[in-house]
Amino acid sequence: MDNFKKPRLMLLFMCIALTISACNNDKKTEAMQQENNTSLFTKGDTAPKDWFTGDAFIHPLLAKDKNNDFALGSVTFEPGARTIWHTHPKGQVLIVSEGKGWYQEKGKPAQSIKKGDVVNIPENVEHWHGASADNKMVHIAITNYQGEENVTWLKPVTDAEYDEVNKK
Ligand code: MN
Repeated sequence: MDNFKKPRLMLLFMCIALTISACNNDKKTEAMQQENNTSLFTKGDTAPKDWFTGDAFIHPLLAKDKNNDFALGSVTFEPGARTIWHTHPKGQVLIVSEGKGWYQEKGKPAQSIKKGDVVNIPENVEHWHGASADNKMVHIAITNYQGEENVTWLKPVTDAEYDEVNKK
């Protein structure tokens, strides 16, 4: 090989090496993005502290309108986060889209809920929902209206109540 061709060949190899490395990085980035993009919706804004305990977030999806007599939203509960006790005048449906958590009606044992579960909450039944102590939980909530009301907030789920559910 003469002295003119040698550097050009080196350059060619370097270009190939760089291209392969760039492709690998693209694949890595893509895999990482897919891993981080398992949530159907972004978390949205911090949920009101009067009605939620811990780190909860609400992403409103649809407001009540002339055809839909309900509000639709995605709610993210970080581990330990939950709603306070509350009721819905016309009930509520939860579709768990991620993680593990709890649904509890007053006076009954808490039910473990996980991704893919659907909870049909009757009207005027006092209850709470949220993440488990160790897992986050995301659910889509379909909350029916009676007139202009779709929820009555009551009092917080105490740490003692929450710990009792999580130690099972
Ligand atoms: Mn509810």
